Amino acid sequence: MNKKVIVFSQLDSDIQARLENQFNVVMLNPKHGDINQQIRQEVVDADAMIGAGRLLNESNLAPAQKLKIISSVSVGYDNYDVDYLSQRKIGLAHTPHVLTETTADLAFTLLLSAARKIPQLDQWTKQGAWKRTVGTAQYGQDVFGKTIGIIGLGHIGAAVARRAFHGFNMSILYHNRREKIEVAQQFNAQYCSLDDLLQQSDFVVVAVDLNADSKTLMGEREFALMQKHAVFVNIARGSVVNEQALIDALSNQQIFAAGLDVYQKEPLQDSPLFQLDNVVTLPHIGSATAETRKKMAELAYQNLVDALENRTPRYLVNP
Ligand code: NAP
Repeated sequence: MNKKVIVFSQLDSDIQARLENQFNVVMLNPKHGDINQQIRQEVVDADAMIGAGRLLNESNLAPAQKLKIISSVSVGYDNYDVDYLSQRKIGLAHTPHVLTETTADLAFTLLLSAARKIPQLDQWTKQGAWKRTVGTAQYGQDVFGKTIGIIGLGHIGAAVARRAFHGFNMSILYHNRREKIEVAQQFNAQYCSLDDLLQQSDFVVVAVDLNADSKTLMGEREFALMQKHAVFVNIARGSVVNEQALIDALSNQQIFAAGLDVYQKEPLQDSPLFQLDNVVTLPHIGSATAETRKKMAELAYQNLVDALENRTPRYLVNP
């Protein structure tokens, strides 16, 4: 009998078709009621799950009897209870590398947009407010040659550093749980404490994975250390930041601006951030280009098939 695969978010159509040719595919659908209830029902006899953006843990996976692999179409895996999965001998795979450059592009897009007030000035122009030459209210911050502080010099952090170094002649500071000597050498990046980085950087970019150490890494105290003209960018995970502290820092003009792709609660609805004109808000689109999403889906598909055919998936989180 065909193996059963649960698809828990929208997938690339080619990959979806390939899965349907090979397996008995069940799609979860929010229109059919509570998703967690659907998971609990369908997972009983499922062999694999594939998708992104859903919390999977004991509360919805407990009924699984033969689940072998969860293939996440993402690099971050903070949505999954890895300890529980390991205890149940359920593999978890993810899709690193293929989204690194696209996400770093987005980090820089946010940095430049927030520094140069791009969304506000786009609206301003379209609303016909451009009556004479622009004044101080429309001025932004220079980027070229400034200092960027990167928190988390992993794959994406290093790709941001490469752009900053080669494209914008920036001085680079970084903070990481451990020093990354070889990567840092390529960009002349200086290792420093979080406090030093916050105090000295004109731009602060967060690129850590969400874990017990990085949760609310940025709070009231940390925003208070940043310079008044500094721009804060978060492309990592919303929970790395105490969002209320950021809102306060932006409201009080304690920092110049922020560029955000991720939030404590997603999708972002009715947020005080919407009232602020010194923040650029994007709907978690770090990897959302057609090419990259296709590569991620292909990799996730391969991880899933490898597991079901008794090969070790290339990117297994819990070997
Ligand atoms: P990665 O290669 O694992 O890099 C994460 C880096 O953060 C590592 O160098 C890690 O260093 C460091 N780190 C972790 N906790 C830290 C802490 N408390 N203090 C300082 N450094 C810390 O992962 P990646 O591929 O660059 O991706 C990073 C994250 O970006 C993902 O986990 C995901 O959550 C997020 N992301 C978001 C989007 C989006 O759509 N916005 C897209 C892709 C990825 P050590 O472990 O050595 O300390």
